[in-house]
Amino acid sequence: MLYVKAPAKINLTLDVLYKRPDHYHEVEMIMTTVDLADRIGLEPRKDGLIKIISADRFVPDDERNFAYQAAKLLKDTYGIDEGVSITIEKEIPIAAGLAGGSSDAAATLRGLNELWELNLSVDELAEHGAKIGSDVPFCVYGGTALATGRGEKIQKLPAPPTCWVVLAKPKIGVSTADVYGGLKLEGIEHPNTKQMIQAIKTNSYEQLCQSLGNVLETVTFNLHPEVIMIKEQMHRFGADAVLMSGSGPTVFGLVDNEARVGRIYNGLRGFCEEVYVVRMLGDRNPLA
Ligand code: ATP
Repeated sequence: MLYVKAPAKINLTLDVLYKRPDHYHEVEMIMTTVDLADRIGLEPRKDGLIKIISADRFVPDDERNFAYQAAKLLKDTYGIDEGVSITIEKEIPIAAGLAGGSSDAAATLRGLNELWELNLSVDELAEHGAKIGSDVPFCVYGGTALATGRGEKIQKLPAPPTCWVVLAKPKIGVSTADVYGGLKLEGIEHPNTKQMIQAIKTNSYEQLCQSLGNVLETVTFNLHPEVIMIKEQMHRFGADAVLMSGSGPTVFGLVDNEARVGRIYNGLRGFCEEVYVVRMLGDRNPLA
């Protein structure tokens, strides 16, 4: 069995520039991987089938699973006769804005590249990933990057300043399609992506905190007001900066002081079941 790590991502910024003629939104987002990860196990099968095995009943066990789609794509494209059993040990909350499914697909692409000795470059794997979903290319590279286009064009960035990240996920799942569907582009407040890139490049934690922004927040807040409450509590317990990740509902708080991390964690655990304290993985290879 080959094991591959599939880390979650958070959005430090998420901007939507305009709606394209092909109905996709043109986005600009800065994403970074964190050390909350699913574990993907890949085991060859002689019968040629692709099987998904997961103890989590919310993980689809058929072709709807992004990891299944990744295996099918490589198998069909490169004429592989062998099958594979894909075991998904889920740690990343589902439909949370943390790209769990996309990261499972990316880890499957990386793992099968090794198992099936395809010798594909990371760029080639990312190109395949884009056929599965907009966030998959970023997850193939991991680390920190600016993503443009519909999210599939990746420019690598250095590691952000080190800090703790407290993730809190309210007990609701959010449909990314519904949130994008509810977005009104007129009059939205755009995050300052350039300033965020500068904060990362100059390793300025203060500037990073000031530059967080996500245009989808107001849409998700209207659909699920409990997300605003979590954001307020995160501030109240002492986070330096707070933002919703992706289309939500997960909210993350940044802290650079160890004593305050415990206070925020304990405070949030009072009314939110899923709270995690993680670190950003920066520019380290998520496979390591
Ligand atoms: P993003 O941040 O990219 O919008 P997300 O974290 O909001 O993603 P996912 O956890 O990827 O959302 O799940 C979205 C949907 O994808 C789920 O409702 C589920 O049915 C489907 N799905 C497909 N493959 C997987 C997988 N491997 N793990 C979890 N969900 C998956």
